[in-house]
Amino acid sequence: MNLRARIDLAVALAAVVASAGLGLLTWMDREDWRQHLPPRVLALLLIFLLLNRALHRLVRRPAREHSQALRRLALHDSLTGAVNRRGFMDRLAQAQQHQQALLSLVMIDIDHFKRINDRHGHAAGDGVLREVAARLRRQMRGADLLGRLGGEEFALLLPATDLAGALAQAELARQALRREPMAIAGTVTASFGVAQWDGSESAADWLHRADLALYQAKRRGRDQVSLSGART
Ligand code: GH3
Ligand code: MG
Ligand code: MG
Repeated sequence: MNLRARIDLAVALAAVVASAGLGLLTWMDREDWRQHLPPRVLALLLIFLLLNRALHRLVRRPAREHSQALRRLALHDSLTGAVNRRGFMDRLAQAQQHQQALLSLVMIDIDHFKRINDRHGHAAGDGVLREVAARLRRQMRGADLLGRLGGEEFALLLPATDLAGALAQAELARQALRREPMAIAGTVTASFGVAQWDGSESAADWLHRADLALYQAKRRGRDQVSLSGART
């Protein structure tokens, strides 16, 4: 049953129960209402408890699940299952708000991805994006977050991780991508830019530093990790 039908049913149910309740009150009015008062009040209470339970099962719970599903759709990338840019930026802002002492970011960009599309087709390119996300995920620790920021660009948010720890994670990810050729497209590599949050810079500044490090990795020949120094 869809949500609309459930709401209609709940309204009908509420109307029936309200009439029953009114009927019961009128009946109580007519007779000597003091007689058998406790069981009647109990009966009314029971009716309203049951109505509340029915409304919860019929409408409130499905509506909550529905909005959770919508939220998931709005914040995730359907191709790779990673959080999308908006979801990633939300979580990054949350982490900054909680002033986590150590927080690092790894920007990841697949090398020569256009060539993969050109040689093997767009569908194969999509397959590579999925495989890249799966391999990155296998290297992640419990609290790490993978985002697809757009196109063939991913990012990792690494809580409780300093620059050296983030470098180690990025190296693991780099190896995980290049170690085994992919069935669809052969060996795929990526370039990585790592930056640790300095504890006060804005999300935009922090991302920009990680991006600069990534461009440096590209310039130096791709398939490598580059670190961002402190903000100057
Ligand atoms: P570089 O090593 O400098 O990063 O080169 P590149 O080819 O990876 O980068 P470029 O920005 O030139 O090309 C990215 C390509 O990614 C272009 C675009 O068509 C492709 N692309 C973006 N989104 C998708 C997608 O969802 N699926 C597929 N198959 N291709 C995509
Ligand atoms: Mg790119
Ligand atoms: Mg690229």
